[in-house]
Parts: sequence; structure tokens; C-alpha cells
Amino acid sequence: MTAPEILDANDPSAITDAAAILKAGELVSFPTETVYGLGADAANARAVAKIYSAKGRPSFNPLIAHLADRDAAQRQGLFNTISIALADRFWPGPLTLVVPRSSTATVSDLATAGLDSVALRVPDNAVAHALLSAFGGPVVAPSANRSGYVSATTAQHVATDLGDTVSIILDAGPTGIGIESTVVDCTGETARILRPGAVTRAAIREAIGDALIEDNSATGDIVAPGMLASHYAPNARVRLNAADVHPGEAVITISGFQPAGIEQAKAVFDLSPSGDLEEAAANLFTALRKLDEAASEGIAICPIPEAGLGEAINDRLRRAAAPRDS
Ligand code: AMP
Ligand code: MG
Repeated sequence: MTAPEILDANDPSAITDAAAILKAGELVSFPTETVYGLGADAANARAVAKIYSAKGRPSFNPLIAHLADRDAAQRQGLFNTISIALADRFWPGPLTLVVPRSSTATVSDLATAGLDSVALRVPDNAVAHALLSAFGGPVVAPSANRSGYVSATTAQHVATDLGDTVSIILDAGPTGIGIESTVVDCTGETARILRPGAVTRAAIREAIGDALIEDNSATGDIVAPGMLASHYAPNARVRLNAADVHPGEAVITISGFQPAGIEQAKAVFDLSPSGDLEEAAANLFTALRKLDEAASEGIAICPIPEAGLGEAINDRLRRAAAPRDS
């Protein structure tokens, strides 16, 4: 076990080192104007899976992709007049815009939890900006604390809480705001607040007027994964704990497990032949999408261990298997 390296963020070589660590698929904690983030290369699903292991999250939320500037954000998402007005007014700053994913987007399926939308933010912090510029791509970065603990506002908090799961912590002293970013859904003709945060409702209303729909049911909890109306669910019926394959089914398996009748499966996806749950998490949403196309009678899911990231994988699969209205 190696402790994380705590580097002085004012040292330019610390930024270069941290960008190289991100490129290598490892985790870097860096300050933003809100709290310390736990960053990973958003395009690398294996790296994103490490965030879930490090935080001990029991479920997969879509994560916010952080970018150096507006141009970089517009390569990931499609902006309309509302999201452009909000970006003009609040970026760089503690505002996250959820927009449709663009065809040039590089963020992985795990980072968006399989959604066709992507959450984007340009943070207002010199160290975050330097790191994002040096790295040159989207970096997902939820708060750098274990799931259920308070957000980290100093490098020491991060080190205590996350230990050696993070390779480098860029130390720039205590962060300023300490409140998370406001998340606004800009995927439609109108906008609504998905999570209240550092930018107030009044300020958003001032920027876009009546395009902001007052939806008081939207609290921080309502956008929990699986509660989003738009949350990705396969069209195909999903059958859990499958020990055999029914005609017309496609199969998700792990560790090379072969259910009875596998030879008649429409398609088979082994999430991790070696049984590595980080690899399995990284492949999960891609597997669901692929098999959704191949299956004519649904997707049979072989048992997945419940340990570690298995809990979040099984949580997602249970949601996919739950009865739906439509
Ligand atoms: P965190 O990164 O932990 O501060 O939380 C990210 C927040 O953004 C959560 O409330 C997510 O549900 C929300 N979010 C991220 N991506 C999306 C998306 N594509 N659609 C809706 N909400 C999102
Ligand atoms: Mg948090």
C-alpha cells in the first residue's frame, strides 16, 4: 500500500505529473471552487470505475464532466440558446449544464450511466483549469470523499478519507464555496433545476427568464440514479440470476460462467472473463446497449458477485429488471 502523493498545486511540475496520472487511467484529486474533486479520465471507463470503488458508492450516478473551457464543453454536448445563455453568464463557475451528448463526445457510457445526455461544467479555479488544460479532455470528478461522508474541502480530508485509492492530491489549501454546483437540465425547450447548489434559482431566472420552469419537486434527491425519467433502461426484458438461457435471449455473464443452453444465445457478453469487478463495471452499460440490439426475447443476466463494485452493478441490473409502466 502506498499513500497518495500530496503535491503543492502551485508547482507547475505537479500539474504535469497529475495530467500524466490521469492519462494513465489513475485517480487525481484536485481543488475546484466548490469542494475537492476525485478526478478520472471521463473517456476511460476503467478509470471511471475506480471512482466508484474508491468512494464505495452502492450505485452508479451519472457524473459531471469537467472541462477547461467552453470549446471543450461543446465537443461533448449539444448546446441550445438556453444552455449558451447560462454558459455565457456562469462559466467558469459552479453551474453544471445537462445537455444532449454530441456525436463527437468522448465521455464513456459509465460516466453518463448510459444516458444520451451529459453533465458539463467549466470550474472557476486556477488549479482545476491548469490541470484540465494540460490533460486536454473531459475529467469526471465527484466530491473526493467516501460515499455518505461529508465533502472534502482540504487535501488532508481527501488523504484521510480516500487513502491510497487516489494517486496524487493537488493541494491548494481549503476550497472556497464548500457547496456543490447547481445542476440544470437543458436537454429540452425549457430548463429546470435538477439539484440546487451554489448558483441560486434567482440568478438563473435572471439569466434565462421564463425558460426556467419552476419545478419544486426537484430537490437534490430526486435526481438519484434510476429515478431520472430519462435514465437509461434497455428495451429488452431483463431476467436476473439466470442459470439457463431461454430461446431468443442474449446473455450477460462474468468470469467465463456458462449457463445451460448458452449455445443458443443471440449474443453473449462476458463483463470480465477474469472476474475483475472494476472491469465488469466499466463494461456494464456498453454490454446492456449491445445486447439490447441483439436480443429478441430479453437479456438473461448470470449471477454477479455482490462484493465491492458488485453491489453497484447488481443495483443497476435490478433497476433494469424492475417492471416498467411503458
Ligand atoms: P456529483 O458529481 O456527485 O456532484 O453529482 C452529479 C450530479 O449531477 C448528480 O445529481 C447527478 O444525478 C447529476 N447528473 C449528472 N449527469 C446527469 C445527466 N446526464 N442527467 C441528469 N442528471 C445528471
Ligand atoms: Mg458528494
